[in-house]
Amino acid sequence: MLRRAKIVATVGPSSSDIKVLEKMIKAGLDVARVNMSHGTYEGHSEMIAKIRQASANVGKEVAILLDLQGPKIRVDKLPTPLVLQEDEEWVIAPSSKAANYPEYAGRLIPTIYENLVEDCHDGARILFDDGLMKAIAVSRDRDVYKIKIEVGGTLKSNKGINLPDCEVSAPAFTDKDRDDLMFGLKQQIDYIALSFVRKREDVMLVKSLLHKLRMNIPIISKIEKPQAIDAIDEIIKVSDAIMVARGDMGVEVGNHLVPSIQKLIINKCNAAMIPVITATQMLESMTENPTPTRAEASDVANAIWDGTDAVMLSGETAAGKWPVQTIKMMEEIVIEAERTPKERPFLRKMDLSNVNAAVMVAASMISEKVEGKFILSMTESGSSCRKISMFRPKTPVLGVTNSVGTARRMCLNWGVRPFQIHEYGRDDFNFQKDVVNKVKSAMGLQNGDKIVITRGDGKFFARGSSNSVKVEIIKDMPKVLGSSDVVEEASDYQKKIQLDTSICASCQNCISTCPHDIWGISPENEHQTIINKDKISACAMDMACVEACPTGAIEIMPLT
Ligand code: PEP
Repeated sequence: MLRRAKIVATVGPSSSDIKVLEKMIKAGLDVARVNMSHGTYEGHSEMIAKIRQASANVGKEVAILLDLQGPKIRVDKLPTPLVLQEDEEWVIAPSSKAANYPEYAGRLIPTIYENLVEDCHDGARILFDDGLMKAIAVSRDRDVYKIKIEVGGTLKSNKGINLPDCEVSAPAFTDKDRDDLMFGLKQQIDYIALSFVRKREDVMLVKSLLHKLRMNIPIISKIEKPQAIDAIDEIIKVSDAIMVARGDMGVEVGNHLVPSIQKLIINKCNAAMIPVITATQMLESMTENPTPTRAEASDVANAIWDGTDAVMLSGETAAGKWPVQTIKMMEEIVIEAERTPKERPFLRKMDLSNVNAAVMVAASMISEKVEGKFILSMTESGSSCRKISMFRPKTPVLGVTNSVGTARRMCLNWGVRPFQIHEYGRDDFNFQKDVVNKVKSAMGLQNGDKIVITRGDGKFFARGSSNSVKVEIIKDMPKVLGSSDVVEEASDYQKKIQLDTSICASCQNCISTCPHDIWGISPENEHQTIINKDKISACAMDMACVEACPTGAIEIMPLT
């Protein structure tokens, strides 16, 4: 529970072994990203099954995020790589039309994107392979565009093409995305990411499709196009989470603008109370090397200080040499950054007119004051946990739920750890006791530890209904006999009374409850409760003081 921000890692050939996946989960993986830009359905379903199995083997929930390719423009398959040189003239055309132009054979770059020539205009920049190569559109010739190479290089099959100066007419949600989404829904994935979102309507289209299908899967909008940055407020309003997709963003707007856009988007997501993931090239050099550069370590830490909910790994864990070490490294950097949190006063000025949000904020403030070990948030849909997470509570949150989907989705929420309860008794007073006992043994809580519980009135798991906060002090009643911590002890022929001073809270409840003056305050130390040994024969053994003791420090035993 040390780390609060979450780790998203892309899976791929380097992480396809179940043993590696188990190690990645143990090292800190919270959300596994399946990138639909690569691979086959068969390969993806095998991978998803392995992630679920590895998660069960390790005993830790992991969310699966299906990242849809979107209208990614790519170079088509090439028989051999093309060597592009500065000042050369080439043409670019959709593969379907290329055969009609034999006159350009040998200097034609085929693309999978049918509308490239229509969308392009003279003078527009055409960038290849994450901007490593650059060309300028010169003039259109029927179905092909003549281009001049400004920065050359070797162009390989399937490399990305960016058109930062053009209005790309392709829909944000393509036919392939629709098929991929249907595949993902059958695989019971937990999150969907939409690539190249440009406007609010792009998100709404997928939302209404999911609504029609009666599927409640959260949508993560990837912000990578300049148009999306312009429409960020509207996109945030309809998205469940945001990804700062710095790879394509850097190509589209220029790397120099990425840090300030990252900060802007994180601030806006924090204010709107939705999670935000900072993605791409965070520990890029670990694709090859077992340690990152100082700049990469600083990048991860700065994203944490910016207020990101999660940090993401791509090629490092999908195709790199050190997938487990990369997650370990990310975990270490995040933990260290979180030791020196940045004050984020605006988080404390949230709109609390919503009852659920107000209760969650109250719980986190109470927990801070009473030094609670955990906040237990009983939740059905996870909405209470999402709210409390956005308040950045100092106390770790356990999201207690009976829904496996909710437990998995919580893996993305800052500071929240899922705690799944399998048996479930609605409206059952004893159920809360059972939950507390399970948490006590799972989390190693000690007598005297405090936990703060939020729940709905009369209901444990009901969507958005949390309206009460309770502070519970862990205690055993009666206390286990023969505790080695007992310092105060007295007995007569019939009974023995013990006071475990190591957990006594000096609340004086015993003093005010006992009518026989058995309890008192030490003359040497006003914070130390003592047993008035000469009074114990008066004890009626009604256990009123045991009941009143909040920490379980008192034990009264009959002597036989
Ligand atoms: C990105 O561009 O930063 C990104 C995360 O998207 P993808 O990996 O799908 O290109």
